[in-house]
Amino acid sequence: MSVSDVWIKALLRLQPTIKNAHFVTWFQNTALIYIENQAACIGVPSTFAQKWIEEKYQTKVLQALQEIDPTVETIKYEVHSSLQDGTDVRAVNLDVVMPSEDKKLRKVNNKDQVSLGHGVISKYLNTKYTLGSFIVGKDNRLPHAACQAVSHNPGGIYNPLFIYGKVGLGKTHLLQAIGNEILKRYPEKKVCYMTSEQFVNDIIEAIGKRHTKSFKDKYRNVDCLIVDDVQFFQFKDSTQQEFFHTFNELYDRNKQIVLSSDRPPSELDGLEDRLTSRFAMGMVVEVLPPDYETRLAILQDQSQAMGVLIDREVLEFIAYNVSSSVRELTGALKQAIAAADLENSVPTVRSVATLLRRLNVSKELVGDITDSSQAVRIIKSVDDVIDLVAEYYRLNRSDLLGDVRKKEIMIPRQVCMYLIRQELNESYERIGSDFGGRNHSTVLHACNKIVTRLKFDKRLVRDLNAIKKEMGL
Ligand code: ADP
Ligand code: MG
Repeated sequence: MSVSDVWIKALLRLQPTIKNAHFVTWFQNTALIYIENQAACIGVPSTFAQKWIEEKYQTKVLQALQEIDPTVETIKYEVHSSLQDGTDVRAVNLDVVMPSEDKKLRKVNNKDQVSLGHGVISKYLNTKYTLGSFIVGKDNRLPHAACQAVSHNPGGIYNPLFIYGKVGLGKTHLLQAIGNEILKRYPEKKVCYMTSEQFVNDIIEAIGKRHTKSFKDKYRNVDCLIVDDVQFFQFKDSTQQEFFHTFNELYDRNKQIVLSSDRPPSELDGLEDRLTSRFAMGMVVEVLPPDYETRLAILQDQSQAMGVLIDREVLEFIAYNVSSSVRELTGALKQAIAAADLENSVPTVRSVATLLRRLNVSKELVGDITDSSQAVRIIKSVDDVIDLVAEYYRLNRSDLLGDVRKKEIMIPRQVCMYLIRQELNESYERIGSDFGGRNHSTVLHACNKIVTRLKFDKRLVRDLNAIKKEMGL
């Protein structure tokens, strides 16, 4: 049996175990070069393909080969560029291996993608990412303004626009917002948004199909090409080459190019100079971690969007203590809400502090009222309950004890009486005299009011649960 027959037989065994799209991407144009001294040497078109096969499929490949030739014990790789351009007769043609109905890549059917014609596939843009939903503070005014300028005048002076910054600071949000905004203003324009990983796969697929010559032409009809996270182009030489040509083709046609990366062009190691210098040709802006005020505004915006009323003090506490990234910030908020929700309660500084400590977001929590030796306050007296309820509702003791009949004060007052009755088992008479000499029927009435209200007022249930938790109940 020739080595090429062995390889085809092995691939036939491999094929049903790997998703079609992946199988085609990684095994098109591979070859079995030789089997010697129990080692099978697989020829691959690029070091990138080698890395992928090695990392993801090595065990499967070895098993499949062993089923055909039990002498094989190890696998070696050789990169042959001749496999890439289709001139090498050893390169396997997967048409032989794949069942006919599976030959076509069915990527376009994926729900999160859209075909723009000419084989160009864009990811769907998430409509929640808009320039309007991006909170602007003093540290991210510039990237926001640049994005605005680009979406008003794509292909104008900010071309390419290169946005860089650490993870979770809103780069993807801004990139997709540009796409959404351009489509809103110019519905006829073709906007292609892709991750650099998709671009790499696209190129490898083109190489597999021997279509590289026309690759740069493929994107000709796109008005705006957005590629997220281009740091993944590092050390991928043939990808960079193709991207370089695509870039020039689009740029020469005054088409907008938007790129993001986790570092500035100058620090993209393993990227050709001719590429990084082009990246830096238009506008390069950094997204910085948002300052405290911006973080607070983001939290307010998000909690409102989620339809949850959260105390400002709690939001301030989160904003103060979670400063590394917006993703962590909103993540902390969502978890705080979810955790409180499970207990039918609302987030309190105390519950959030516990959560943040568990998430380990910062070493020391600033403004943490929960000193660890005394995780909950010890409630012993009527006065303690009055203080706690006043603090929870941000009222003064005198409000609770006084006569003002506004709802914002009356309900907390009733809550207070109810808790004293329930938890401290005080008599109605005693509570009445603590509350400025009210008679016992007033107190009884107040407590009953709360009992009734709890049947329909979800917010009250949550507040009460949160207060009880503060009391250690
Ligand atoms: P990156 O791509 O830089 O890693 P993302 O764009 O994915 O970050 O942002 C993470 C999350 O934070 C997203 O949900 C995004 O909407 C949100 N976000 C980041 N910055 C802001 C901002 N300034 N205003 C509103 N939301 C933001
Ligand atoms: Mg991103």
